[in-house]
Amino acid sequence: MLTNNSTESIFSKLDTFGHKKVVFCSDPDTGLKAIIAIHNTVLGPALGGIRMWAYKTEQDALTDVLRLSKSMTYKAAISGLNLGGGSAVIIGDSHKDKGEALMRKFGRFVKNLNGEFIAGEDVGTNPRDMEYIRMETQHVAGLPESIGGGGDPAPIAAMGVFMGIKASVKELFGTDSLTGKSVIVQGIGHVGENLVRLLRDENVKVYVSDINEEQSRQVSKKYGAEAVSNNNIFDIDADIYSPCALGGTVNTQTINKLKCAIIAGSANNQLEDETAHGQLLLEKGILFAPDYVINAGGVINCYSELMGFSKKRSLQLTENIYEATRNVLKLSRTENISTVQAANKIVEKRITDINKVKSSY
Ligand code: NAD
Repeated sequence: MLTNNSTESIFSKLDTFGHKKVVFCSDPDTGLKAIIAIHNTVLGPALGGIRMWAYKTEQDALTDVLRLSKSMTYKAAISGLNLGGGSAVIIGDSHKDKGEALMRKFGRFVKNLNGEFIAGEDVGTNPRDMEYIRMETQHVAGLPESIGGGGDPAPIAAMGVFMGIKASVKELFGTDSLTGKSVIVQGIGHVGENLVRLLRDENVKVYVSDINEEQSRQVSKKYGAEAVSNNNIFDIDADIYSPCALGGTVNTQTINKLKCAIIAGSANNQLEDETAHGQLLLEKGILFAPDYVINAGGVINCYSELMGFSKKRSLQLTENIYEATRNVLKLSRTENISTVQAANKIVEKRITDINKVKSSY
């Protein structure tokens, strides 16, 4: 049972993040314990992934879903999509606790939201799970291509990051040619490997690193990249650091070690502290391409799926990440604010403007 203190802490958290609605889903029959957070729906229905994770505490799960859903609002808005931001977490071990009944029960909770939330994939869920949810509700994206979905979003996400890297190089060097540039890609998973391929196609010198050293070795061999130990990537003298593993790798300690001029990768929430580390990077003259701006390819792919999937349209929208990044970097330069502040400013203006359109009739 909730105590007064924990109730206060939940509501004060909601105030801090500015959420519209948070739904707690519980079903003892299937063992489902989930939280769906709808951050903002001014631009459209809240689309976001379902993360299944064995959180240590329910508070950790709540904090994660609030943070993830807010960043989805910003990601969709900066990409010019008519989508709001939401996310869901299922508490449990995806290898042991997941099954058809649990996912379909979750789908029933999504159905009850009548389209206010559209579910997609995240860590611990996959296209098969989306198919189970689709058996209960139409409000799901990320389905396999064979049944009319957009398929694996990772190649599109990598293309967006590649566009973000090019826009960042243009800002610093006056040309977006990557000739003669070097990039460290940390995390060679679905997105990382696709990014390595795109970079090597342009003859970029690429260093790869992964906690899974075998994966790192294989990818380096396949694409002609250089595998480096995860422990000393911050000692490498490269132009660009591309975090494609987990968040929080850009912090006071790593910023002081970094030798690169640009940080641009796919990982969500790369800055340990958005305000403090955004400012520190600005002061140090390291260009940070905000993660939610350049890793939007996945959500763009889902958006395209909702509109009647077209790979061509997905790629066109993803190429717009180049211009979106250029606009953010320009605002940061002209107002001497961090790139994160600049991106947030553009997003918040779009949401405020569209809110006025909606409330005027
Ligand atoms: P993935 O799980 O396929 O790959 C992640 C890789 O990072 C794995 O190979 C893993 O071994 C490695 N890794 C984990 N911790 C590491 C560490 N400390 N140091 C080095 N390597 C480490 O994930 P993905 O789908 O490629 O996504 C990568 C990142 O991009 C995630 O943060 C994800 O949230 C984000 N992202 C993914 C997509 C998408 O469409 N897949 C879209 C937008 C953002």
